[in-house]
Order: sequence, then structure tokens, then C-alpha cells
Amino acid sequence: MSSEVASGFSRKNPFPAVHAVNRRLSGAESQKETRHHEISLGGSGLVYEVGDSLGVFPSNDPVLVGEILESLGFSGEESMTAPDGSVKGLGELLLKDLAITAPSKEFLAALVGKAGDAVAELAGLTGDPARKKDLEGYLWGREVIDFLIENRGVSWTPEEFVKSLRKLQPRLYSIASSQKAVGESVHLTIATVRYESLGRGRKGVASTFLADRSGGGVPVPIFVHTAKHFRLPEDPATPVIMVGPGTGVAPFRAFLQERRAVGAVGKNWLFFGEQRRSSDFLYEEELQGLEQEGY
Ligand SMILES: Cc1cc2nc3c(=O)[nH]c(=O)nc-3n(C[C@H](O)[C@H](O)[C@H](O)COP(=O)(O)OP(=O)(O)OC[C@H]3O[C@@H](n4cnc5c(N)ncnc54)[C@H](O)[C@@H]3O)c2cc1C
Repeated sequence: MSSEVASGFSRKNPFPAVHAVNRRLSGAESQKETRHHEISLGGSGLVYEVGDSLGVFPSNDPVLVGEILESLGFSGEESMTAPDGSVKGLGELLLKDLAITAPSKEFLAALVGKAGDAVAELAGLTGDPARKKDLEGYLWGREVIDFLIENRGVSWTPEEFVKSLRKLQPRLYSIASSQKAVGESVHLTIATVRYESLGRGRKGVASTFLADRSGGGVPVPIFVHTAKHFRLPEDPATPVIMVGPGTGVAPFRAFLQERRAVGAVGKNWLFFGEQRRSSDFLYEEELQGLEQEGY
């Protein structure tokens, strides 16, 4: 039976899960911030197979929502209709339902229509299909907030602004555990997206939702995304070669947990790499333990 049928929870009806563990895997001197997350499936009836992914519906960064509201001169209390038809305040809608970082085509078109000559470069790029690559270069590292701050004089109604934004999409993460080993829990290995552009610190929506903002009473809305064609061989004696650099190790940690849980006798080859052995050998002790045990 699929997880969806067994539990009643799905992409359309995600399970509000408890974020039980959130710890940094990469060392303090690493250039990256890779984290190990454990999410409780307790009470959900959700089941998964190794190879599956977990869908996560994030919320946006409330600080960014505040900056957007401030730049537009809105209070956040304005009554709006959400994509699911419910009525809620603009602030809540921007927090939970709409994509507020990467600018959509609709947002750029609306801005060009309103700002005219003030956004001549953008108008030139969006108006010429032959300059698609130049437009991509121009937009790299530029978010909705940058356009709003640069064009404070442009006036939007809450409805126009909301209409120009797309729905906030869930992100998928490779499941890094086997239920045969961890029971009603799901583990993830996530590289937290943080970078700087145009003098501002930026945050990936879902990876920083999990790193910074969920847990402690804030649930993680999740669903299981089945990957029928990414599975261990049925015969446990079949050798397996796995190549997973960086967070690509996640599904293979799950495969190895499963092979150990069922006592699979087939040989396992795992190829893993990251920037520096001293700070980026993810799950070092665990993997070396498995090697010593013969897995
Ligand atoms: C099947 C599947 C499995 C996956 N498994 C994993 C996994 O196990 N672990 C994992 O960490 N991820 C995994 N991912 C990726 C994951 O789904 C997200 O895409 C990732 O975490 C980023 O999401 P975010 O919401 O944090 O960032 P977003 O808000 O989506 O922002 C990411 C975007 O920021 C921009 N950006 C990033 N860096 C820069 C920069 N330096 N300069 C300018 N712009 C930049 C890029 O446009 C990038 O697309 C998987 C994806 C799929 C499809």
C-alpha cells in the first residue's frame, strides 16, 4: 500500500511533523553548512522506502516578509484570498503561501508596466527573447525585495502585488534513513543555502526554514514522494556501487542502513567526496563503523 493511501497524508494534505533533531554535520571551518535533520513521523502512519524523497512545505523568512511589507507601505493586515480560497491577512499569505524571493515573469512584467523608464535595462531584457541569457545573468542574485527597494516610488495595491507572485512550492529531499533502522522517523542531509549578493545576505527558503525556523512548536508540513525507479536490488546478495558526493550521500546512507538492517551479504561500494576531509567528511564515524562491520 502506498504511504499516501495508508496514512491519508499527501502533497495535497501534508502531515504537520515535529522537527526532532537539527545538527550541523560539517565542521566549523567548512565553507559549507550541511545539517542532519530528523523529523518524527509519530502518529502519521506515513511509510517510506529507501530511495524515496521527502517533500517539505517551507514558510518564508518573517524578516524578509517584514521588509517587503515595509517597502510597499502595507501593514500586513490587509485581507486577501489565498491560493486555496481561504481568506487571510497579507502578511500571513506572504509568509506561508507565496514565493517572495526569486522574481516571477509576472512580477517583472508588472514592474516594467508600472515603473517605465526607471527600469529601462530590465524592460530591454524582458522585451527581447533573443536576450534570454542576458536576462538570466541580470536576475542572478536579484530578488523581489531588491526591485521593491530600488523602485520605492512605484505604487502597488495589495491585490496587484499578490497576483504577480507564484505559489510557494515544496522542496524535495532525499531520505537519508531506512525505516527498518529508525522506525517512525525520517532523516535528511541538507546543505543550507546562504549567500550574499548585491550587499545583502540571502537565504534559501526551505533549507533555512529547516536550519533556523522550524522546531520548538513550529511543525514541518511533509509528504512522501515515491521514487519507484531508485531502489536497492531485490536480491540482498547483489553487490551495490553507490556514488554520492556532498549531500548526494543521503540516499546511500539510507541504502546502507537498510542493507545492515536486513543483514544483506552483497558487497557495498560507496564513493563519497566533499571539499575537505577534515571538515566535510559527512557521517564519518558512522560510515567508518559500517566499513568495520563489513558493510
Ligand atoms: C529529488 C531531489 C532530491 C534532493 N535532495 C536533496 C538533499 O538530499 N539535500 C539537499 O541539500 N538538497 C536536495 N535537493 C535540493 C532541494 O530540493 C532544494 O532545491 C535546496 O535545498 C534549495 O532549496 P531552498 O528552498 O533552500 O533554496 P531556494 O530558496 O530554492 O534558493 C535556491 C536558489 O538560490 C539561488 N542561489 C543559490 N546560491 C546562489 C548564489 N551563490 N548566488 C546567486 N544565487 C544563488 C539559485 O537561484 C538557487 O536555485 C534535492 C532536490 C531534488 C529534486
